[in-house]
Parts: sequence; structure tokens; C-alpha cells
Amino acid sequence: MIPSVPRVWREIRYRYRLIGCKCTDCGAVYFPPRPLCIKCGSRKMKELKLSEDGVLINYTIIHYASREFKYQTPFIVGVVKLREGVKVLAQIVDVDLSEIKEGIEVEAVFRKLREQGEQGIIEYGLKFRPKIKPK
Ligand SMILES: [Zn+2]
Repeated sequence: MIPSVPRVWREIRYRYRLIGCKCTDCGAVYFPPRPLCIKCGSRKMKELKLSEDGVLINYTIIHYASREFKYQTPFIVGVVKLREGVKVLAQIVDVDLSEIKEGIEVEAVFRKLREQGEQGIIEYGLKFRPKIKPK
């Protein structure tokens, strides 16, 4: 499923800066931002810059991917829980497949997501990598 170019442009601001939103009525936080709170139905949403670090809560290793992602296989896709409690699904990079494990601390990085066929549009987006702990 390839998103249309207009959609990419619409989302790019959020993808680059990890901006979510917070419901001013009940405090629920969402990423990507949405106009309506699914918890309380409020439309009073405020933009919220999310923290760029979190914990990897689970992951899967992708061995077979569609053509546009094939050059990257095998790769890791994981669910990262940010400090605000929001879960983000993203590729996990800069880690050995043998070293990946649940519970590690990760931080956001912005990398090439894919190239779109003949048009050669390069899409960038959010990925996460393990935080290197100071020794
Ligand atoms: Zn709400």
C-alpha cells in the first residue's frame, strides 16, 4: 500500500517532528494526531511534541517484504512506547538481529523509508535505534 503523494506531504511535518496531539478534556495522547478523541469524543485537541525516546515493547523480524522494501530485508519492525505512553510502530535500525530484545531503550532517528518506483520519490520517516548507554 503506497500512500498518495499529497498524503505524504500532509503528514511529513508530523513524521519529521514526532508531533502528536493531546485531548484537552481527558488528556489522552495520540500519534499521529487526530481531530477527534476516541476516548471521550472531544474535538478539543492540542498539538503536542512527543519525546523522542521510548522503550521497545515488542518487535518482529521481517524476512520477506514487498519490492520497495526488499533491499532492506531482513529488518526489524517494532512497537515503541514513548514516554507519554503513546505506541508507535516503526522500523528499528542500527541493531544486530541477534541483539534485539524487548525492553531496550530506543530513540527516534529520521531515515529514508523507501523510494517510490519510477517517480523516484524518496520518502523519509521515523525510525528508532537503540540508545547507547553511557559506560
Ligand atoms: Zn479525550
